[in-house]
Amino acid sequence: MKMTGTLRFRLTAWYSLALATVLLVFGALLYAVVHHHLLHHHDEPLRASAYTILKIIDETDDCHVLTDRQIEQLGKVGKLALIHESQGERQVFFDSPELSGSPLEPVLTELPLKHPTTLQFEALERDGAFWRVLSLPYQVRSGRRGVIRVVEDMGDIKETLKALRMGLLILAPIGVFASSLGGYWLAGKALAPVERITDLAQEIEASSLHRRLPHPGKDSEIGRLVETLNRMFGRLDASFESMKRFTADASHELRTPLATMRNAIDITLKRHHTPEEHEATLKTLGIEVDRLNGIVEDLLLLARADSGRLVVNMEPVRLDQILAAQVEAFWEQAEASGIDLQVRSTEAVTIIGNERWLHLMIGNLLGNALKFTPSRGEIIARVGIADGEANLTISDSGPGIPPGDLEKVFDRFFRSDPARSNARLPGTGLGLAIAAWISSIHGAEILAANRPEGGAVFTVRFGHRPS
Ligand code: ADP
Repeated sequence: MKMTGTLRFRLTAWYSLALATVLLVFGALLYAVVHHHLLHHHDEPLRASAYTILKIIDETDDCHVLTDRQIEQLGKVGKLALIHESQGERQVFFDSPELSGSPLEPVLTELPLKHPTTLQFEALERDGAFWRVLSLPYQVRSGRRGVIRVVEDMGDIKETLKALRMGLLILAPIGVFASSLGGYWLAGKALAPVERITDLAQEIEASSLHRRLPHPGKDSEIGRLVETLNRMFGRLDASFESMKRFTADASHELRTPLATMRNAIDITLKRHHTPEEHEATLKTLGIEVDRLNGIVEDLLLLARADSGRLVVNMEPVRLDQILAAQVEAFWEQAEASGIDLQVRSTEAVTIIGNERWLHLMIGNLLGNALKFTPSRGEIIARVGIADGEANLTISDSGPGIPPGDLEKVFDRFFRSDPARSNARLPGTGLGLAIAAWISSIHGAEILAANRPEGGAVFTVRFGHRPS
């Protein structure tokens, strides 16, 4: 992985960018505030001086000729120049001692007035020197007009601002660089457990899915990540195990009919047989082929159901009519076995469902009941509505289901011991797994129980209200 693509690098880059932006904004604001404050600090005394001067020269009508007292007073005010204006012509008529002979004097004379009636501040730069200039236009009683200009050397302010600028320009990048290094180190430290977990998770393979990642022991993001990964490994382990069990069970179930067929063929080939014997062998082979076919079909159906590729159309269907049709289909078989098969429902029950799969589910339940119920037993099938829910029950007077197996009967390939050991009871252990799947696509719940008087009872509760 390229270093620039790592989370560590990207975290540091974002963090440094954010810090640089903050420093830039903060630096610019700081500079603006200091700049404003320093200028303002100088502007107040300049303004005070300007008004003092205005008061001094206002004492005479014609300020063109200043009295000695005024000249003395003006000389104490500071750096200033008094400029007369007459028909656009400007002429200095007083310089403070600090300004007389200064190269600044002609500049001040020429400096235009942006606002001819109000006070204004300006910055002036001449020969590497910086000045702050206040201009205050005036008009004395005689009508004569002019402008008072007070100036202050700003060299120190410029120096201070320059030092501040340099400081910010040098220190900010150093700060960003130093904190980026720190950030990179911190990000590395924070992400180290993730690296460790990645390495450990990589070591866990299909053959070692039982392994778990060590918990860091803290209720942190990493702790939660480890818990989530461990839960995922748990689920993978369980489904891997069930897949292995399923494959083993499926091969076992397929082997039995194949072995029977192999056996029948071997016996047939060993010696000469009469046509009747051949016919009997072919009948055996036919039964086993049917059995194999049944297993393969059931397996295919479950595999397609697992993959979610099976499209199941739902529409309003009459559950009572489907039950009646299935009972009818098993009628002959029940009579031949001496079993009393009854339907005990009177009401019409409509649900949203799939007719084909509901036929299969009820057929599987009735088929089991017939298989396990001895002669002279009874099977009662009914559909009804209780508490607004449609339900279906099929109960029989057979041996029932061992209590410990009630939960397991819906597992694939599960057959309880009595059923397995009784060779007269054919089966693969897939019928109820298929019934459970059909019940689930209907949003229904299927339950196995035993009747108090003996025998098994299967109930399917359809959760939605029948229409
Ligand atoms: P199969 O009937 O092919 O063995 P199922 O999935 O239909 O497979 O049933 C699984 C197991 O549940 C059966 O082997 C049996 O042990 C038990 N079982 C199902 N229905 C009944 C029933 N009506 N009475 C007693 N046991 C039953």
